[in-house]
This record gives sequence, structure tokens and C-alpha cells, in this order.
Amino acid sequence: MTIETRREWFRTMAALGAGSLVDALIPRVLTGRAWQQPTQDRTAAFRAQIGAVPIQTQRLGDQLTLLSGPGGNVVVLHGSDGLIVVDTFVAPAWPKLEQSLAALGAPVTYVINTHWHFDHTDNNAPLHAAGATVVAHANTRRRMSESHHLAVLELDFAPSPAAALPQRVFSAGYTLEANGDRLEVSHVPPAHTDTDVTVRFVHANVLHAGDVFFNGRYPYIDGNTGGRVDGMIEASNRLLHEAEADTRIVPGHGPLATRADLVKYRDMLSTAADRVGKLKASGKSLEESIAAKPLTDLDGDWGSGRYKGDDFVRIVYLTL
Ligand SMILES: [Zn+2]
Repeated sequence: MTIETRREWFRTMAALGAGSLVDALIPRVLTGRAWQQPTQDRTAAFRAQIGAVPIQTQRLGDQLTLLSGPGGNVVVLHGSDGLIVVDTFVAPAWPKLEQSLAALGAPVTYVINTHWHFDHTDNNAPLHAAGATVVAHANTRRRMSESHHLAVLELDFAPSPAAALPQRVFSAGYTLEANGDRLEVSHVPPAHTDTDVTVRFVHANVLHAGDVFFNGRYPYIDGNTGGRVDGMIEASNRLLHEAEADTRIVPGHGPLATRADLVKYRDMLSTAADRVGKLKASGKSLEESIAAKPLTDLDGDWGSGRYKGDDFVRIVYLTL
């Protein structure tokens, strides 16, 4: 297969939403050949794989709905003031997202991004084109304007087009009142990235944690854009301080959570940071630390998501 043929093939597979099929076929296609898949094509395949997941709808209140599936969890506040949408899924999921929002009574007046990552911001442009103002932390706009390499995933991202950038940015916090609820958007110090915000729906008693919280699975931490494991622990403690016993917490990834779920997650992060930190401090290299298998007893509870135990040792080591 020539490079051009390969590129064409990946574009076709991506267009078919066949990312997982692409992953499955790569080893057979490449047998006996030294070859690296072009990173832009890998990113497109990753997007397509995520975008192929159907949207599931869960009611959180009379005017609050959780949409889950093709990317981070999306929360929609709906009512006579129009829709306020927190996070936007990946680009290939746009037709499904548009349909789900129409069912909740578009137009969308505001979009809030919990951070800069593509699976939370990809559909900013079509939502803005439909009339929404996109609101995010100033660092989200800055990070989206740059190109990035995401370690562990080994994916490359080009700067987002101007039409996808937030129109309104803030540094400490932002408040919105609509549809009988009050949204308090708060920046947290560098944790998953240096662009993270959490969104509290005061009346509904719901907290959107963004990717500071992966419920029931090892999280990704993006050291390239300021993420650090200690920041993830601090951000979890902040959320625990804000949450009441009956607050429903929407994680960036994973099912709807309780405060008790967040406590378990925070404890897992502390244990992992402590163990990997000791290996690193004793002079062990990244590969030696992975080989030491320091998280084996945690893998049963936390290793069923995208990131397995070895991946999480790598993520923690790189962000200590
Ligand atoms: Zn993220």
C-alpha cells in the first residue's frame, strides 16, 4: 500500500465511523513492515471511533438533561430562555447532537466548555453558527489556538479554526442565570489541563466536574497543557468541599456519580500518586516504574476504561 493509498483508506474508514475496525486491522495490514500511521489520520480515526457511540439521554431535573456517549458528558439546561449546553462531543457526533438538542427545544443561547480538549469543544463552531455564544476560561481559547501533542494517546492536534474559539472568556469565574437556575462556573488550578472549569447548577443541585473527574476509571492527565496529578487531587478535594451528600456529580467521562464515588476516586489518585512518586523519587525510569506494576491491586476497579494500569503509571509519572 502506498502512503497515499493508506491515507485514502483511513479517510474512508474514518468516514464510515469505523475507528475500532481500523485499530483491529492495523496489525494484519502492517505485518512485516516498518510503518507508522500518519498522526493526523490516527487522530481522525480516534474521533470517528468516539463519534460512532450513540447518545444516551438521562433526565436530571425538569429542565436539566444529561447526554452521554460520543465524548465527554454533555449537560443541557433547557426552558423558555433557550438552551445552555455544557460541552459539545466530537465533530462526527454533530448530526446526533443537533437532533438531541432540537428535541430539548433549541435554540442554544450559550455553550460552556469545561476545558480545551477536542471531545468537549469540537462542536463549538456549528453551535456558534446556530446562534450560541461560547463561554470558556481564557486558557481554553489560548490552548485551542495552538497545536498540541497528547502523550500516551500519541495524537496530534492542529489549532482549532477561528469559528470554534470561545467568544467570551473569563479568568476566575462566570455566572449565568437562565431557566430558573443559576450556573456558577469556576476555574480550578491546573489539574487535568490548565483550562479546567467546573459548573454548578445551584437550583438542580448538580455539579459538572469536567475531566477533573473520570468516574470509575483511570483518568487522562494532559501534562502538555499544564495538567498534573497533584492538581487532580486538589481539584477533587475542592469538588468534595462544594458537593453535598445528595449532589449529583457529572464526571467528564463515566456514569453519573455521587459524592461517595468522588471520594473513592480521590483516594485512588492519592494512592497512585504516592506509589508512582516513590518509584520516581528513588531514581526509577518511566519504563522501570511501569515494569514494577505498582497499581495492580487497583486495576480491577479502575482499569476497565480507555487507560489500563500501565497507561496510568505512565500518565502519573509524566505529570508528577
Ligand atoms: Zn479532557
